[in-house]
Amino acid sequence: MSHTAEIIAVGTELLLGNIANTNAQELSQTLAGLGVNVFWHTVVGDNPQRLKEALDIARKRADVIITTGGLGPTYDDLTKQTICEAFGKPLVLHREILENIRVFFEKNVHMKMPENNVQQAELPEGCTVFDNPVGTAPGCAFEADGIHVLMLPGPPFEMRTMLQRHVIPYLRGISGEVILSHDIMTFGLGESPMEELLREKMSHMENPSLATYAKPSEVRLRATAKAESQEAAEAMLAPVVAEMTAFLGDVVYGVDVSGLEEVCFRLLKEQGLTLATAESCTGGRVAERMTAMPGVSAVYRGGMVSYWSSVKADVLGVPQEILDAHGAVSEPCARAMAEGARRITGADIAVSVTGAAGPDPDERGVPVGIVYIGLATPKGTFCRTLDLGKRRRDRIQDLASNHAFDVIRRYLTGLPVETWSRK
Ligand code: ATP
Repeated sequence: MSHTAEIIAVGTELLLGNIANTNAQELSQTLAGLGVNVFWHTVVGDNPQRLKEALDIARKRADVIITTGGLGPTYDDLTKQTICEAFGKPLVLHREILENIRVFFEKNVHMKMPENNVQQAELPEGCTVFDNPVGTAPGCAFEADGIHVLMLPGPPFEMRTMLQRHVIPYLRGISGEVILSHDIMTFGLGESPMEELLREKMSHMENPSLATYAKPSEVRLRATAKAESQEAAEAMLAPVVAEMTAFLGDVVYGVDVSGLEEVCFRLLKEQGLTLATAESCTGGRVAERMTAMPGVSAVYRGGMVSYWSSVKADVLGVPQEILDAHGAVSEPCARAMAEGARRITGADIAVSVTGAAGPDPDERGVPVGIVYIGLATPKGTFCRTLDLGKRRRDRIQDLASNHAFDVIRRYLTGLPVETWSRK
């Protein structure tokens, strides 16, 4: 049976615009993956009367109500009391939770638990307790009048931990069916062309279903199956993933991977190769994305942000004649930057990025959006030329760094690197 959820975020800070409601975003993403419909997000301040009104509305239109925030020990943290009153549930003290909170204070905060915190151990009678290993406020869930009410803490890290440990299993438990998705990650084909290509197939598919999601500069194709068990859902998804991957061809860079850099890291590691970077207009984005991955020192030697032409010449050894004749935003410069980075670091391959990220054309009049990606390798040096158009500066930088990873990925998988979109 499919459920309908409403997410109620409690906190005056949210209404004042001091913080964004990232908890609702994260919960919604997870609930979508579980097949729970989310039709409403509500935000209400730390005010019991208005929270009560929000609950009265939510219980008429949803059978799962998830609240975040307001579980703390301070006077304005009123979520629990208000919910218990609204659903006629008494609050009872849970001694083992009180003990956990005491231990948390002694171990992590190195102090005796303040008396205020005792109320965090009071939970609705007969509820399922969601322990909180990364904070003090436990969460909980109960069912009343056919409605499941789940209360989660506000701090996003605590909310996320509880979501993974308790909320997902709880919701799976009440749904009686398993919903499983696999993400086919693509780069090089826009969302509209992809939808056009797949429209016919997608319109006939209900279970498993297919949907596209555009991330900046790439498209995720999600296949989702509903079944009575994990194994059955996997068996339904496997042929669809295989068919779609084959159909889309080399724009697919992976299944269930977080980004192009993860694939590059794995390929470099498998092939025992090292990488270096030389960046101009991306200002270190490629290096940053590489170094965000734990264990990457096995394959990533280092990189330079060579912004001035003099740094391109003096540090990377880009010949002055190239800079004079072609400028810094040019194919010869991108090639020389990559070769310089490879030579200096001793890496097996080196990628370079130089381009005009805007908002103004570069000093030689190269239009915004022109970007060159160089790749120096033992098999020679390659260059991908891009016209990314007049987009926002940060979008050009993100897209250019994605192209840099795509060039590396395509080289390491034996594909031509200078072209990228599906023919
Ligand atoms: P605590 O025990 O810390 O008081 P709590 O469950 O009472 O936890 P709140 O006091 O409502 O939670 O919020 C604590 C902090 O968590 C807020 O200051 C804010 O930084 C963050 N937070 C709360 N709600 C959200 C939300 N919906 N999205 C993102 N961050 C949030």
